[in-house]
Amino acid sequence: MEKYDLIIIGSGPGGLTAGIYGGRQGSKTLMLDKGPAGGQGLEVPMMENYPGYEIIAGVSLIAQKKKQALKLAELHEMEKVTSIEPLGRIYKISTTKQEYHANSIILSTGSRHRPLDVPGEKEFLGQGVSYCATCDGPLFAGKDVLMIGGGNSAAQEALFLKNIGCNVTIVHRRDQLRADKYLKEKLEEHEIPIIWDSEVEEIKGNIFVESVVLNNKKTSQKTEVSVSGVFIAIGDEPINQLAKDLGLDIDHNGYIITDKFQRTNLERVYAAGDITGGVNQWIVACSEGAIAATAAFEDLQKM
Ligand code: NAP
Repeated sequence: MEKYDLIIIGSGPGGLTAGIYGGRQGSKTLMLDKGPAGGQGLEVPMMENYPGYEIIAGVSLIAQKKKQALKLAELHEMEKVTSIEPLGRIYKISTTKQEYHANSIILSTGSRHRPLDVPGEKEFLGQGVSYCATCDGPLFAGKDVLMIGGGNSAAQEALFLKNIGCNVTIVHRRDQLRADKYLKEKLEEHEIPIIWDSEVEEIKGNIFVESVVLNNKKTSQKTEVSVSGVFIAIGDEPINQLAKDLGLDIDHNGYIITDKFQRTNLERVYAAGDITGGVNQWIVACSEGAIAATAAFEDLQKM
């Protein structure tokens, strides 16, 4: 069984950064990911707040980080971690493919899209319902689509959809957006309509989505809007099953609790990125990854 100084679970922006730091510090480092490296970072259409780049797509930045990380650490994609077990002073990590031993672990398992939990959402997933405008948006060019949500993701993705030629309308449950001011201004500039105070009651269709039933919360009036696509961006939930199974302390929202060096309550187990909650930003995930790998390296010297 192969043994590593550091195994990083999840290779989004935080995990890849931890891999770069771990490798550079001379630790034998492995990054594992159940999917392709990048996680939700791959879905960000454009970032205008990642220092060093005036504008860059998530997919491009992930490609650069991955290339850099691969020079310093191993990466196994499409290999899901199924369990982590303390084994004396080390940890045994089982995946869908094999088992590893590690002196230290960084959990950067990220978060998943929160579902609306309305009829039709599951049934039409991939047939008009999507949580990723970057991935699926091009299929809807020239068509009418709704973007559900009022945060930065919904605003950013609506702008992306508009830019690729979709007739996008935002649906938000309140009368003002949570999104940053610059994004609100861009929505206005691009004349993206917003249906206020409205929640989705049902997504309807035959094989593909054909319409959405909306309920105006103020007037209780229901309207059925004909659309081909429904994009949902209403926030995230932590992917914390491994953390729970391992007995890590988590907060009331399910995010892993760490100290300022990303240490958890278990020795030589750290957490970085969206799984720790707080400010969900690339730069934060990256810095947490760097801090976690550095703390892991320092703690290994004392082992
Ligand atoms: P978010 O900020 O939590 O916003 C979620 C939005 O969905 C809110 O407007 C919320 O409404 C709405 N919502 C939640 N549950 C709903 C439901 N059941 N039905 C209908 N609407 C619902 O999530 P996010 O936009 O995904 O952003 C997540 C984090 O990433 C944030 O910290 C954000 O700042 C960050 N982010 C930053 C950028 C950027 O810097 N450019 C880009 C993307 C994301 P209410 O407003 O009524 O609560």
